[in-house]
Amino acid sequence: MLTSSNIIDEIHICPNCGQKMACCQAPPIHVGDGLGWGSEYLFICLNDNCPLFLNGWEHCEIDYGHSASYRYMELPGSRESNVMMVAGKDAFKGSVVDKNELSRQDKRQKKIAGAVADLQGAEAAGNFAPALYLACEEAANLSDRRRAITILAKIAGPEIIDPLRNHKFRDPALEAESNTAIKAILERHYLRECPHCYELIKMRAKKCKHCGSEIA
Ligand SMILES: [Zn+2]
Ligand SMILES: [Zn+2]
Repeated sequence: MLTSSNIIDEIHICPNCGQKMACCQAPPIHVGDGLGWGSEYLFICLNDNCPLFLNGWEHCEIDYGHSASYRYMELPGSRESNVMMVAGKDAFKGSVVDKNELSRQDKRQKKIAGAVADLQGAEAAGNFAPALYLACEEAANLSDRRRAITILAKIAGPEIIDPLRNHKFRDPALEAESNTAIKAILERHYLRECPHCYELIKMRAKKCKHCGSEIA
């Protein structure tokens, strides 16, 4: 399998202009249109003086009647090539992959894989750290995150409530599961959240010890 670090080290030279091509993030694929390059990254010639790009304007004007041109593209790990239609000079320039960013992503994926591997043992040991990390890691698999939240509900204490509440879940269903886990943890510790200041108080408190509000 091609890892992202292998990919960025590939050298692709544009046959039209002889310049080194840029490694770009592939454009998002619309579900159902059957398109997609089967790769997260594409090598694209972003040279504004590339003959393919320079001549493309005229060609597109004649063939399609609108202002567009082409950029030469190759897929990683191959010399399979194609052209991408672009509406201006800046297309793809914002999606050039930065090597440091890629190595950060690699590290993040390794950390996720490590936490997933630790999950089982951590649950047995009562260590909630990998589960909390996964629950709040948007780049992890949904199924691993759901499993992590289930584990938190079983073994974690009230200290994880703030991190969970403060995390912006992109998936509303996962957020609902997180709220269910919080409820289970609160009940297990005979606690509830003050409806006024959100500090934790005893289930049977009549007055919040933090903000002084009367609790119904
Ligand atoms: Zn070129
Ligand atoms: Zn309060």
